[in-house]
Amino acid sequence: MRWTPGGVSSDIEDRRGSSGGGGFGFGGMHIGIGGAVILLVLSLLFHKNFFALLGGGGDTATTQQSRGPVQETPEEHRSVQFVSFVLDDAQKTWEETLPGYRHAKLDLFRDAIQSACGSAQSASGPFYCPEDERVYIDLGFYDELRQKFGAPGDFAQAYVIAHEIGHHVQKLQGIEQQVHQAMENGSRAEQSALSVRLELQADCYAGVWGHSTQQRGIVDNADVEEGLNAAAAIGDDRLQRMAGRTVSPERFTHGSSKQRVEWFKRGLQGGRVEDCDTFR
Ligand SMILES: [Zn+2]
Repeated sequence: MRWTPGGVSSDIEDRRGSSGGGGFGFGGMHIGIGGAVILLVLSLLFHKNFFALLGGGGDTATTQQSRGPVQETPEEHRSVQFVSFVLDDAQKTWEETLPGYRHAKLDLFRDAIQSACGSAQSASGPFYCPEDERVYIDLGFYDELRQKFGAPGDFAQAYVIAHEIGHHVQKLQGIEQQVHQAMENGSRAEQSALSVRLELQADCYAGVWGHSTQQRGIVDNADVEEGLNAAAAIGDDRLQRMAGRTVSPERFTHGSSKQRVEWFKRGLQGGRVEDCDTFR
């Protein structure tokens, strides 16, 4: 992808330094409450701030409540810049495509996070919460995408963000609410089918943004392959096989690899929202 690292998007909230789960996060290092107590005792005994040794530095007494300084590797910083670029570019595209589009926010976190949709662990992957209109991502997911799922490349990473923004578009269109209402009264099989349609539409919307990037020469054919590879890599049938289970479509939530590639492609080819009606 052709992009230049710039500043951090104003739609991004960096919550990587805040404590999301059980331990306190000090600049990316996580110590338990026990560890914090020991450091506190040492600090009191020696009149020296032992918390500073962890890299958090500064006023650590308030660090526990508020957000701590975020320590990141140069690679992580570049990742944040990349996510910023994709987020801003995708939302600008949707501003031009969808009348009355309002921006989603994106929260960066580590390990665990509290959202209006409940608490979540990094292991469950990036997600969009319609209640607070925020996308949540632990950048560690990108390592997983590359290593565990075998989907490298920056456009693969971009597709993940664009898919979540696709869910935000569904929220703004009222589709998300309709589907969740229908799911409440449905059987398990119906719920699964509805979930798949919702997810495939988000894939198609990711493609709509992808189309725009192609038009502007940001993305070339090799990039598109990375994106399609990523869509295939996280298909439900592949995930079920990876988990050592037999493939059972009635348990699908996101659609098969083939379906995900198909709908992503559909958005990519035409760049039209109308092509993304997975409910027809
Ligand atoms: Zn999704």
